[in-house]
Amino acid sequence: MSNYWEDASLNLHFTSKADCSLDANAATKYKVKANVPETYVTDLQKDLIALGYMEDKDGNKDGYFGGGTKRAVGRFQRHALRRFRMLSDKTRVDLPDADLWKGSETGSVDPSTAKEIRRWIDKKWTVPVGAYKLEPLDQGGKMREDAKKAWDAIVKAVTDAGGILEGPYGDTLRGLAKTSKSGTSSYSLHYCGRAVDINQGFYGKRYFAKKDVVGSDTFWNLYCKTDKQDGTQGTEFKKGDFKYFVFYNETESDIPKGYYLDLTGMIQASGEFSRIKAQSGWDDSAKEKSARYNKTEWWHFYYSKDVQKTFQDELELIGFDEKTIRAKGWATDAELDHAPG
Ligand SMILES: [Zn+2]
Repeated sequence: MSNYWEDASLNLHFTSKADCSLDANAATKYKVKANVPETYVTDLQKDLIALGYMEDKDGNKDGYFGGGTKRAVGRFQRHALRRFRMLSDKTRVDLPDADLWKGSETGSVDPSTAKEIRRWIDKKWTVPVGAYKLEPLDQGGKMREDAKKAWDAIVKAVTDAGGILEGPYGDTLRGLAKTSKSGTSSYSLHYCGRAVDINQGFYGKRYFAKKDVVGSDTFWNLYCKTDKQDGTQGTEFKKGDFKYFVFYNETESDIPKGYYLDLTGMIQASGEFSRIKAQSGWDDSAKEKSARYNKTEWWHFYYSKDVQKTFQDELELIGFDEKTIRAKGWATDAELDHAPG
């Protein structure tokens, strides 16, 4: 008996049906010729199941290295490059950079990948579902714990400077259910506990948005009128120093004189939260007015630190496993592997 992870020339892979790894079990089941020793692929699949990267069912441990096994290996490799590890009791362990796996995401199992899989088995690490907690915000709604911490600091800085980021917010954490509502992305960071829509009720009273065109994209620079208008807070603007956008009638108007904070600048100052551009079509007169408004996104900010490569990777971090996500409407691999945002 030899183990797959001790084989120095290991190369378990799937390129096509004509070029993939088959072991003794696959040979019996599919009446094909095995091309790797013993039960290498079956043993690998059992390890991937133990780690939570494949569901425990017969078809997933048949010794045939197919597309599903390739995807599981790729996800494992991607995760092995990150710091999050999870023990079976749901305790999160953050590995120092020096201890992270050094390979790359190929979907094939070479000796280095095999050793890393066995390291996870030995350490009892599993796919990190629920690495982050969700926490309620004072303004209502929820965010991922690290995003909330960063957002709370921003709210405090803005409030201390005489500005306002009070709720109720339009949206924070969105319940996990795929929607076809116009203007919302199926892969929104709202599902991931990373986004906040600030209070639109302050528009034209405390908030004023200046159009900020970057190439073919439109962003907004938000200014917030300060509590005190006696010169002790904010920066003075004279009437008409620049134009702000009046969303309800889609025109530009003179900024009223007063003292303001650069709200967008303050939100982005820590480098942890970021604005987004208006969705294309926001100024397309062929579209219905409310649909156009919904695409402006002037109120939307997201936690931009460490955004994961796939929507599934993001959702796993806040506690949803693959089976649950598929059942909630993101049923295909392509949807799970879609970039978030
Ligand atoms: Zn939003």
